[in-house]
Amino acid sequence: MSGEPVRPRPRSVDGRFDPLPEWLGPGTLAVHADRRPERNAGAVVAPIYQTSTFHSPEENSEARGDGQVFLYTRYENPTHQAVQEVVRRLEGAQGARVFASGMAAIAATVLANVEAGDEVVALETLYGGTLDLLSELLPRFGVRVRWVSDGPAQEPESVLGPSTRLVLLESPTNPTLRVHDLARWARAADRVGALSVVDSTLATPVNQRPLALGADLVVHSATKYLGGHSDLVAGVVAGPHKLLERIDRTRWILGATLDPLAAFLLLRGLRTLSVRMARHNANGAAVSEALRSHPKVRSVHYPGSFSPAEASLASTQMQGRSGMVGLVLEGGRPAARRFLKALRLVHVAPSLGGVESLASIPSETSHVHLSEAELAARGIAPGFVRLSLGIEESDDLLKDLRDALDTL
Ligand SMILES: *Cc1c(COP(=O)(O)O)cnc(C)c1O
Repeated sequence: MSGEPVRPRPRSVDGRFDPLPEWLGPGTLAVHADRRPERNAGAVVAPIYQTSTFHSPEENSEARGDGQVFLYTRYENPTHQAVQEVVRRLEGAQGARVFASGMAAIAATVLANVEAGDEVVALETLYGGTLDLLSELLPRFGVRVRWVSDGPAQEPESVLGPSTRLVLLESPTNPTLRVHDLARWARAADRVGALSVVDSTLATPVNQRPLALGADLVVHSATKYLGGHSDLVAGVVAGPHKLLERIDRTRWILGATLDPLAAFLLLRGLRTLSVRMARHNANGAAVSEALRSHPKVRSVHYPGSFSPAEASLASTQMQGRSGMVGLVLEGGRPAARRFLKALRLVHVAPSLGGVESLASIPSETSHVHLSEAELAARGIAPGFVRLSLGIEESDDLLKDLRDALDTL
């Protein structure tokens, strides 16, 4: 094993930045949370530590005296820590960790917390990659998955049992934008001694803070809104130290490390999260409202639009509804395809959360592995088009969307 770095000592990642008041809002935290200029040669902007390894602790004066030891970038790198501090503060968590992708964050979180014989309870409508993790990988290691559809998900108490170890939720769900009662799920999970994990990618900490609602851990695909510019792939997990330390072991073994350059880009993206989300929220509201009555649109999916109960839940659980809108077009999938072809401004591409608007047909991208019956059971109608509205002018977006609808 020569050349291998020594095993890292578990250590806390926070408390090493300039102290900031507790009451600062997300727009301020995103700009200032990772301040520590005296450790960064006085730089206002956190540098990219583009290094794989670090001098051994005996030689590394920077590492002495405060218990902090960087060893090897697969474990931890100062650029990771800057991002983690911003995410930690935005989510109101004890700590946070970055990963090479959202899937890496979700996989490490799940694998760190289950063993053979355990049961995972998961919503039936989750991100496609998460469904694959749960349905393909976990059963090979003796972990059972109990799937919950949107109806029974209203009554989590009747779904969870003594062998439930972990509960995996998304709210709003991708792509149907259903809103689930995160506080009620967290209480139900607590009662049976299970961990509740919320994938909050579609909401962001500007619009929703699952830990404050009682969830144990919150995960994000930082590829989406947190990065915000469709130019990186990354994931994050935030929660209490005790749970993060357990995830660290799995994270180090799996090696799904975020490259320091991508960490720097994520940090730069995060600076503007709050202003971007205000615009995404406004564009989502404008488009969902304007197209609801369009003759070519059968129905609109928008967080809270499913029922009056979900509307009131969304208004208490969320501070904004994001820029995600689902359109169900008259004429099914052929109409959806023609609509995408007719768009001139909105890109036709999977993914979401960037400054540019994107449109995709989930049954042909993120949820391509589901049969027609499975799609129907999850409320994904044949003419379903998912829009991720960017930060463009809402009038320009509406003109492009209406022009494309007019060709149908
Ligand atoms: C994209 C996405 C993921 C996966 O993230 P990657 O960064 O692509 O690995 C997980 N959950 C949700 C809700 C997503 O939209």
